Amino acid sequence: MAMHSISTNKSNIHHIIEEELNGSSIENVIQQFGITTDVLSLVKFEDYRKEDGYTIQDTLASCIISPNDDQVDVVSAICFYTEAISDKINVYFSKISDVYMHQKMVHIFIQFIIMHELVHVQQIQNGLTLAEYRSTRYRDNPHEQHANIEAQRILSQECNFQSKVVDLIVTNTSITNPVHYELRELYTIDR
Ligand SMILES: [Zn+2]
Repeated sequence: MAMHSISTNKSNIHHIIEEELNGSSIENVIQQFGITTDVLSLVKFEDYRKEDGYTIQDTLASCIISPNDDQVDVVSAICFYTEAISDKINVYFSKISDVYMHQKMVHIFIQFIIMHELVHVQQIQNGLTLAEYRSTRYRDNPHEQHANIEAQRILSQECNFQSKVVDLIVTNTSITNPVHYELRELYTIDR
């Protein structure tokens, strides 16, 4: 059987991020987190993250942190790297052949990315400094772990399908045939 994988591109991703940012679930999370900054005004879109002229292919989003007058760090931008996100989705979800399920997974993935960044906004607001953040390697960074745990906790409340998708994202589990089968089962039940 010929299989065409469903693909997305950076303009789809840009559109979905804006849709989610203006949706009620993100608004609720901003309130729940006690975030006082106007998150929407901080949002920026770029293709990929650039660092010293190099393109960082696998960074999907980041909070740009700068010191302000009071010596307290503040988030000056929340950047979403739309090309990097679409690359990741096109590889990671390549086995998903059902258009609607694929679309749902893309939305979950993007909600996860947004919520993860919102946890960072909260961390900075609560006094985390850039220096403190940088004191541990990315892989075992407790602030990164906390951002994943919080984003996962909130998104898992929705339904078993969404909970499974978030679990795959957090653990970076490949979508093998058995995993795909399990996802389809959950999707059918939860729909
Ligand atoms: Zn992070």
